[in-house]
Amino acid sequence: MADNAPERTCIGCRQRDAQDHLLRLVLRQRTTTHRLMQRSLVPDASRRLPGRGAWIHPEIDCVTVTQRKRAWLRAFKISGDVDASTLDELMASIRSPSNTTLRYRNPHASVSATEADTSTGSG
Ligand SMILES: [Zn+2]
Repeated sequence: MADNAPERTCIGCRQRDAQDHLLRLVLRQRTTTHRLMQRSLVPDASRRLPGRGAWIHPEIDCVTVTQRKRAWLRAFKISGDVDASTLDELMASIRSPSNTTLRYRNPHASVSATEADTSTGSG
């Protein structure tokens, strides 16, 4: 085991964790034909995109908090509108792992709370 694995802070729960447990997000900016700046969050699963990154646990709690607080604004030291729809996709992929639009692993995968109780007998 590497004893000096890089750690990053999750923008949702603000906890430090091994980089491997976090998903990197970067801010993509582009100028439209009307000279409007369009910014969007994009996932960087390979961690190779240039620029400042923000890190988040691919977990429902952290994504929820991030969306509610718009934590990317602080993480990137910006203000204004940012297209954060990638977080919706991330949330969807967490909720239904079979949805492979974006493939993230949940490092803290635990027992699902929606286990069906099939104890009722038939007959
Ligand atoms: Zn977190």
